[in-house]
Amino acid sequence: MTEAPLPRQADHSWWLEEALAQDPGTPCPPLSTEIEADVVIVGGGYTGLWTAHFLKERDPGIEIVVLDQDVCGGGPSGRNGGFVNALWEELPYLVQTLGEEPALRTARIAERSIPALGAWCERHGVDAWFTPNGQLGVATSASQDGAWRETLDVARRLGEADDRLVELSDEEVSELCRSPVFRAGILTARTATLQPARLVRALRRVVLEQGVRIFEGSPVRRFRGGPPAEADTLGGRVRAPRALLAAGAWASQWRRFRRTILPRGSYIVMTEPAPEKLTEIGWTGGEGIYDFRTALHYLRTTPDGRIAFGAASPRAGLGAGLGPRLMYDPVSIRRLIRDLHRMFPSFADVPLDCAWGGPIDVTALHLPFFGTLGKGNVHYGLGFTGGGVGPCHMAGRVLSGLILDARDEYTSLPLIGLEPKPFPPEPLLSPGAFLTHEAIVRKDEAEDEGRKTNPVVDFAARLPRRLGYRIGP
Ligand SMILES: Cc1cc2nc3c(=O)[nH]c(=O)nc-3n(C[C@H](O)[C@H](O)[C@H](O)COP(=O)(O)OP(=O)(O)OC[C@H]3O[C@@H](n4cnc5c(N)ncnc54)[C@H](O)[C@@H]3O)c2cc1C
Repeated sequence: MTEAPLPRQADHSWWLEEALAQDPGTPCPPLSTEIEADVVIVGGGYTGLWTAHFLKERDPGIEIVVLDQDVCGGGPSGRNGGFVNALWEELPYLVQTLGEEPALRTARIAERSIPALGAWCERHGVDAWFTPNGQLGVATSASQDGAWRETLDVARRLGEADDRLVELSDEEVSELCRSPVFRAGILTARTATLQPARLVRALRRVVLEQGVRIFEGSPVRRFRGGPPAEADTLGGRVRAPRALLAAGAWASQWRRFRRTILPRGSYIVMTEPAPEKLTEIGWTGGEGIYDFRTALHYLRTTPDGRIAFGAASPRAGLGAGLGPRLMYDPVSIRRLIRDLHRMFPSFADVPLDCAWGGPIDVTALHLPFFGTLGKGNVHYGLGFTGGGVGPCHMAGRVLSGLILDARDEYTSLPLIGLEPKPFPPEPLLSPGAFLTHEAIVRKDEAEDEGRKTNPVVDFAARLPRRLGYRIGP
């Protein structure tokens, strides 16, 4: 049997194509000389740009330079699913890691970022399709039934569940969206979806208006902490007393984070518009949807009636570094297409517009972490592990405070100074990570199909958790 042709690879992502068609933005050519600044920021994704934005709000005279190897938003910030969350889904991890009071404080502060993002868009005249209609987590196989209970129980015990986490029966789920594989689920209110690239490009516009200097196409090849910190690109150098490392999964290429951050590919396929099919299945409320596989599927709609359907995949990144397979991997994309049609059979005849991928910065903690290096002048915010759209806004507040040496509720968050358990060194890491991630997906697939998981696969899938990493079932 011949396989159906694969969809085209988007230029970065469908989101970035759409955002740049709306507004290509002021050009920011590569750095070609030696310059000085008060702060140099490596990475023009949400973390770097929110930090620049809040620094300028706090101190309008501060001189900031942002360097990005690509365009701002060329990494995951312009490629992601656009789910805007706080950290409530991570509540059991937060409590285990930090204790109850610090966990609650952290989750509440993280939650502020969601309405703040909507308000920021309004204030700056940004149409980033901000839709605060909640997210629906749904079981798609018997093995996923009740997978949300631990989080719900912890939230209830701490008095935080009420109107935030609402359990839904299978009938209630089907009122929001009908699929032959959907069962019961949970609605997380006070969450949102947005167009991720419209957000990051708007942020780029606003920080440029604030006077931040941005150099795109400027990979930092050598970085010295100093002080002063020095960031060397092919064509130039920035010297600054203070620096921020906000390079996402690419931070794994620096020795300091080599065993802390594991890049992992996540991929999305985008259908052509089919609003009539969305009406047929009743998915017209704009909720983001995800299932409870270990390598979970995440799916959402667009205003013109498309489905963006994504999932993490074991296939890329690990061992292969941050190569082209992270941006488009045929095997992972075929798996996604099969799963999209299994979830929504009526979309089998809807053409696919494109597909793309990007690297997630996985850590053993499953939580973002912040800190300071060297002589106290180099800061970092990393490890958003596939959930940074909301938390990177909070990160901007944390990191701008750390850079200015401010004492406030953000700079006293317990995520600062956390050190994730290191992954094993090479040559164990790459093959070990690939095999366990492949086992996780195979276990997910067996459970989706109601098959028993092969015991060897089951053992391999559970191994990372047995070794103390928050990865896998
Ligand atoms: C396919 C996919 C789907 C996702 N879906 C969601 C979702 O729905 N919801 C959610 O909350 N999160 C999601 N995420 C995760 C989310 O996108 C990230 O957590 C978030 O974008 C991290 O932002 P950041 O600024 O820290 O890093 P990035 O967006 O990775 O930005 C880092 C920047 O640094 C630049 N850079 C790296 N190295 C260098 C260097 N040496 N010199 C100069 N520049 C450099 C890169 O080009 C990049 O622009 C998803 C991620 C992917 C890949």
